[in-house]
Amino acid sequence: MKSKGICYLVGTGPGDPGLLTLKGKDCIEAADVLVYDYLCNPEFLRFARPEAEKIYVGKKARDHTKTQDEINEIIVKLAREGKVVTRLKGGDPVLFGRGAEEAGELANAGVRFEIVPGITSAIAGPAYAGIPVTHREHCSQLTIFTGHEDPTKPETSLDYEKLAKADGTKVFLMGVERIDEITSQLIKHGAAATTPMALVRWATLGRQQTLVATLGTMAAKVKETGFKAPAVAVVGDVVTERDKINWFESRPLFGRRIVVTRTRHQAGALTKKLAALGADVIELPTIRIEEPHNRMAFGELVQDAHTYDWIVFTSPNGVDAFFKMFYKLYNDAREIGGVKIAVIGPGTADKVREQHLTVDLMPEKDFVAEGLVKAFKDHHNIENSTILWVRAEEAREVIANELTGMGGIVDEAIAYRTVPEKEDNLEALARLKEEGADMITFTSSSTVEHFLDLGVALPAGIKIASIGPVTSATIKKRGLKVDVSAKEHTIPGLVAAIEKFYA
Ligand code: SAH
Repeated sequence: MKSKGICYLVGTGPGDPGLLTLKGKDCIEAADVLVYDYLCNPEFLRFARPEAEKIYVGKKARDHTKTQDEINEIIVKLAREGKVVTRLKGGDPVLFGRGAEEAGELANAGVRFEIVPGITSAIAGPAYAGIPVTHREHCSQLTIFTGHEDPTKPETSLDYEKLAKADGTKVFLMGVERIDEITSQLIKHGAAATTPMALVRWATLGRQQTLVATLGTMAAKVKETGFKAPAVAVVGDVVTERDKINWFESRPLFGRRIVVTRTRHQAGALTKKLAALGADVIELPTIRIEEPHNRMAFGELVQDAHTYDWIVFTSPNGVDAFFKMFYKLYNDAREIGGVKIAVIGPGTADKVREQHLTVDLMPEKDFVAEGLVKAFKDHHNIENSTILWVRAEEAREVIANELTGMGGIVDEAIAYRTVPEKEDNLEALARLKEEGADMITFTSSSTVEHFLDLGVALPAGIKIASIGPVTSATIKKRGLKVDVSAKEHTIPGLVAAIEKFYA
């Protein structure tokens, strides 16, 4: 019988999550086991099935978590066991990625495999720094070489004489640590010391950094600035194009490191918007959403939802939890009946509309509990109306108190609770400690409370951005200052305020 075991050797591109191929994504989704290393963006692991096994095999220069032989052994063994193994590699798998060696091992072992090409940092890295590796006005040849050779080889296999004489653009990878030797060898063999040169670090990511100099001055500049790997080096006249087409680094939030503290599940929308403006986003989830303590009570209220005059939703999470329960109980959307729906703000309204339901009431501008109460006061007489308020376990009591005060009969359906995130943020915490950040965003009081409860020291000078007055009050209550507050209390409102702050 033929085994279904297979190994996909997938290039994940240089880092920007948008630069993974569709086929690469398919392979991640199909994997039983993912084997990944240092330069592969860990975000991609999110495409994997939750039960997929994840094996980190490391590999920074000098810090080989697993040797190449061990990696070969792992992928052969797992595929032989009949598993779908997806081996993720930064950039393209066969450009200085040892993908060919792994393919060779798989072939020797008689294991099925496929190579899924990726976008290489050798071309994309310079492009994200505004440097095209070829240009009709500058050159028609590109040479790519490695600065880090097999340390077991006694002599260098790089022929600097030929490299120095090669026309056109030269790109080299893994060269920061030997920059002095490489540049001086090229000059010694005849390359002009005045040739423009750039190094692009963490290319295509929010934390990209570019250093521009010449072949003759780069080594000193690296030393002086403490510039570190991983970086791609590009040498040639094309570097001057950067003056004109440096698109990536000129976006409004480029160079700003911003922390997002929402749940992992919800962070996406905010992260994407900030990243699209060029920010380097650290997702540090401080909270997680869990089922309420009393699921049974919640289920009973959801079951009776159609008997109420109004359902009031005060958060997107509440809408999610409500309909998750609703469709466990019913399999016909009409069971919701003719109940009217009120929401606290646009984010919550979007969630309701995702269910193909219309929102009957929303505040005009103040997207907080008080705003919703005012909207009821302005537009509806709710005396003797029955109202089901779908809420978090730890919500403020404004809605219940005020609506009851107006004669409404309010039942409270506790849909979820917010608990501190303890596992999913260790890597982000380490990055925050090591690299600091320019700004931290809070999108609810619970993100503030739980972040501060982590006991992490806020980096000196960090700015604090808040989505609205309730969150701001919590920030102040905990002794901190709000630097940026959203005019409109929504995610787009928060992003707009941050952009304005840095403009
Ligand atoms: N197969 C990869 C290269 C692997 S070798 C590719 O096609 O891109 C590892 C080297 O690639 C690093 O030392 C660095 O020189 C370069 N590199 C990979 N990703 C990079 C990135 N995002 N920014 C800058 N350099 C990168």
